[in-house]
Amino acid sequence: MKSALVSGAAGFVGSHLVDRLLKEGFTVVGVDNFITGNVVNLESAKVNSKFRFLELDVVDEIPDLETKFDFIFHAASPASPPKYFEYPIETMMVNSVGTKNLIDLSIKCKARFIFFSTSEVYGDPLEHPQKENYWGNVNPVGPRSIYDEAKRFGEALVAQYVREQKVDAGIIRIFNTYGPRLDPHDGRVVSTFIRQAINGEALTINGDGNQTRSFCYISDLIDGILMMAQSSEFGPINLGNPNEMTLNELVVEISKILSKNLKTVNLPELKDDPVRRKPDISLAKEKLGWEPKVSLIQGLQLLINSQ
Ligand code: NAD
Repeated sequence: MKSALVSGAAGFVGSHLVDRLLKEGFTVVGVDNFITGNVVNLESAKVNSKFRFLELDVVDEIPDLETKFDFIFHAASPASPPKYFEYPIETMMVNSVGTKNLIDLSIKCKARFIFFSTSEVYGDPLEHPQKENYWGNVNPVGPRSIYDEAKRFGEALVAQYVREQKVDAGIIRIFNTYGPRLDPHDGRVVSTFIRQAINGEALTINGDGNQTRSFCYISDLIDGILMMAQSSEFGPINLGNPNEMTLNELVVEISKILSKNLKTVNLPELKDDPVRRKPDISLAKEKLGWEPKVSLIQGLQLLINSQ
């Protein structure tokens, strides 16, 4: 029987990963300090006897968990701009010291370590779509660097341990993902728009709405994470949906699904907000045989039905 540790288990991605691992028969230890997570996300996991939860800050020394893990998934980190602006130092610490602590545990257990990086390592990209060999366009002292540079440091740390052949590890670069359990108030665009649309409020768009994003449904992301874990790839590998659209187009899609005429209000542009974001997923297709299956319409419908 395989066992896994998931950091950030009470968060959006972490809790879906926990549920999938349990479904696949894994024994799972979830850890979280609830800085941005919610215990409600673990409701289904908590009734499973193969799941154990520990309230723990992975930046602190990790206690002896008396389990030998086959996989360690490091998903802990604030992930949306309002949250990492609220917790800047914590964001930098969990991706640096927290990453080191969990790599050390992986070495001890001989576990495969998966680091949850982000498309934000590409910054405001000058290449489009973004391939993994693009080094990015990041302002190291800009406001978003607390997240972008923290993830870049985390990647550098993992890469060094792998170069020294101390750990078996892989890096995934996750692009915007949405689905049930996304905190409707944490500032991510899909959940914000749906909350505002359902409440009859105007949808708030920073800038003119012509900036692009590509949105991946959570079950597709979880498939990719498991495929990465079960491979021996180091990556980094992009995981995201290449279906690119402007925020204005996203508003139109949501209005079609809800059969509502939606009003929008344009707010000032955010500093260093990327203008275009679209993953090139050829590496994930080639190395993992992964590509997303859920269309935006299907995914939005599933998210709305879960509200
Ligand atoms: P989330 O905020 O919902 O979940 C993160 C979880 O980590 C929370 O439960 C939080 O309490 C926990 N956490 C934070 N610091 C911790 C610490 N020091 N010790 C223990 N737990 C801690 O965010 P998410 O969307 O689930 O993101 C999960 C991971 O995926 C993050 O590393 C994020 O950077 C990455 N990611 C997510 C997306 C996305 O679209 N959701 C995109 C790119 C990257």
